[in-house]
Parts: sequence; C-alpha cells; structure tokens
Amino acid sequence: MKHLVLAGAGHAHLTALANLEEYRRQGHRVILVSPDAYHYYSGMGAGMLGGIYRPGEVRFHVRKLAEGGGATFLKDRVVRVSAGEKVLILESGARLAYDVVSFNVGSYVPTDIVGGSRENVFTVKPIAGLLLAQKAVREKIRDGVPKLVVVGGGPAGLELAGNLFRLVSECGGQAHITLVAGTGLLPSFPDKARLLALSSLRRRHVEILEHTTVTHIGNGAAHVENGDRIAYDIIFLASGVKPDPVFRDSGLPVGPDGGLLVNDYLQSVAFPEMFGGGDCISLQGQVLDHVGVHAVRQNRPLYRNTLAALGDGTMERFVPQKKYLLIFNLGDGTGIFVRKTWVWQGKFAWVLKDWIDRRFMRKFQISGERDDDGAAID
Ligand SMILES: Cc1cc2nc3c(=O)[nH]c(=O)nc-3n(C[C@H](O)[C@H](O)[C@H](O)COP(=O)(O)OP(=O)(O)OC[C@H]3O[C@@H](n4cnc5c(N)ncnc54)[C@H](O)[C@@H]3O)c2cc1C
Repeated sequence: MKHLVLAGAGHAHLTALANLEEYRRQGHRVILVSPDAYHYYSGMGAGMLGGIYRPGEVRFHVRKLAEGGGATFLKDRVVRVSAGEKVLILESGARLAYDVVSFNVGSYVPTDIVGGSRENVFTVKPIAGLLLAQKAVREKIRDGVPKLVVVGGGPAGLELAGNLFRLVSECGGQAHITLVAGTGLLPSFPDKARLLALSSLRRRHVEILEHTTVTHIGNGAAHVENGDRIAYDIIFLASGVKPDPVFRDSGLPVGPDGGLLVNDYLQSVAFPEMFGGGDCISLQGQVLDHVGVHAVRQNRPLYRNTLAALGDGTMERFVPQKKYLLIFNLGDGTGIFVRKTWVWQGKFAWVLKDWIDRRFMRKFQISGERDDDGAAID
C-alpha cells in the first residue's frame, strides 16, 4: 500500500478528492491535510461579501468529501517539507510520511505593511475571512457612515469595492468607499476594461485614487507615498498574492515568486514523487497569472499524474490556456467580460459568470453543502 498525501484542498485537488475510490481501488491510502474543513471558491467570494451568495453556495465541505471517499482528513497545515526523507512537518508538530505528495496550498496576501493592531484589517484571502468582514461592515453601518478603504487596483480590489457598495446599499446604510489603486485600476488589462471599471465605480460614488500606493497601515489610517493619510474604519487588502512560503522555507527548488517549481506534468523539477497545482506553483519556463482558471484546468493532470506516480498509468501534461475568459462581478447586476482584447460590460456578462460559477460548484458540491450555512470555519 502506498501513501498519497494531498496537502491543501484548493481548486486544483477537487477532481482527485471526488475520485478517491480510484486510489483505494488500486490499493493506496489517501490523506488530506487542510487547515479548514471548508474550501471557499474565490470566484464567488466578492459576491458572498456583497450578499449575493450564501456561504453554503460558495464552499466545498472538503472534510466530508475526503472522508466520504475513504480518505483520512487531518485538520492541520504543512509548514515544512523534508523531501529527502519524504516527510511533511505539520503545524501541530506531527510528521507525516508520504510516497507521493501533491500540494495545492494556494497563496496569501502579504501584510507586512500593517503595523500595530490588525483590528478591522481584512485580507481578500482567505475568502472565509470575508464573512467576518461582512459582519464588521454591517455593525459599522448600524453606528454611522463608516469609511471603507480597499487597497489594490486589480480585479479583486475592483470586485471588493463594487460588492461593498452593494452590501451597504442592501443594508439600507451609507458609507464612504475609497479604492486605493496603486499604479491604477486594472493596469494590466485593455483600456476599455479600465474605463468601464472606473465609470462603474464612479457612478456609485466610490472614490478611486490612482497613482497612489499605500506604504504603511496603522492607527486607523493608510499612509501613502506622498505623506497623505487615508483614515479608515475598515480596510481591505487586495494588494496581490504570493505563493505559500512552505517551499522556499524547505529549501525546495522554487520559481522567482517562491512557488514550487514544476515541469509540464506539474511535477517538482527535483523530486518526481512531488506534484503541485494552483497559486502555489511556478511552471518552469512560463509565467502563469495567479488565476483560478489555471488551477481548475490542473485538476485532471494532478489526478492522473498522482495515480501514475503511485503505480500505473501515463502522465498527462498541463497546457495552460493562452487566452482565457475573466468576468468581473461589479456588484450591481453587471459584469465586465474580458477575453484578451475583447471587452464588454452588461447584465449578460454577470449572468454568464454566475452560470459558469454555479456549474463549477455543482460539480464538486456533493457533500450536502448547499443545505449547510453554519459557521465560516468548521
Ligand atoms: C476576490 C477574488 C476573486 C477572484 N476571482 C477570480 C475569477 O473570477 N477567476 C479566476 O480565474 N481567478 C480568480 N481569482 C484568483 C483565484 O482566487 C486564485 O487563482 C485561486 O484561488 C487559486 O486557487 P488555489 O486552489 O491554488 O488556492 P486557494 O484558493 O488559496 O486554496 C488553497 C487551499 O489550501 C489550504 N492551505 C493553505 N495553506 C496550507 C498549508 N500550509 N497546508 C495545507 N493546506 C493549506 C487553504 O486552506 C485553501 O483551502 C480571484 C481571487 C480573488 C481574491
């Protein structure tokens, strides 16, 4: 019997988790290590903050998924890899041996610019934290007209700002919403997407500060390069993500951003029994955007390749899509559709996004999630 450890239950491990019986049929034991019993789908995270979705609609009960398929679930976190010994060191101090390991531990928002108290500071990831943020916003609206500040001019910052407006309006309250966009709003997207996003937020009186970079957050204010301070009651960091540091900390070969360096088979360039997918990897010879689109397409190769590494079968290459579709949820019943240079905004873009996202959820929500709106973290 061989041991497969799935480290992290992110978007790229869902096919493996939904097909656990195949590993069992071939005589292998599977262990899932995850700090949380739920995995939240990031594509619907901003919509959950805005109140479009209930928690039960946007998350997978990965503990039930694992245990239902006969795997062992360990509520823990991988903090170190001893690749020579084929052992993972967990946050609890436990050591976990593997024959084959696959990592889908995702990315995090660095918070080094935050000094002092972290009260009322929320990062866009982990997505579950947006439920706590929603509660905090509701409370502030009850007490007055809060200043809500979003830091980050990428798609996540745009979606957060639009959906905060929606949340405030749905609660019948008022707020000053400011988006501090760094170099600019959607700087790496076509001009048309930028202009549509700017006008959508401005129509709703969201203040957008372009060419403004936050250098430090502390004492209820974001401090920017020119010395100005932007006071906040609640602040959101959507200022970019980095792969989990576990690989760099473990001395494994990593890409420029610290992601586990893998070949086309999503296999570590140094350890053939080690695989990875999603935001935590760097694909050798290519720069991949940190988008869920890639993580979702890595599901099948990770499933096939871990099976092959455990025994029989042939490995499958991961070929990233050169052109892929993104739709931004603006929180007002419209979306911005972007596929390379093809850009448009409208209700239909939102309907399409909602349909695509719900279809994805249905495929892996096979553990009764939609009837379960309990705590954010199980
Ligand atoms: C608001 C927002 C909206 C987005 N919208 C889109 C979109 O519409 N389309 C798109 O393509 N992309 C979108 N993205 C990007 C997308 O979120 C990421 O690319 C995607 O989350 C990557 O998936 P992942 O599974 O690699 O990581 P994650 O979603 O971060 O999942 C990682 C999992 O690993 C677990 N974990 C973390 N550390 C450890 C550890 N040390 N040990 C064990 N387990 C661990 C976590 O609990 C989590 O369950 C969006 C991002 C944000 C923030």
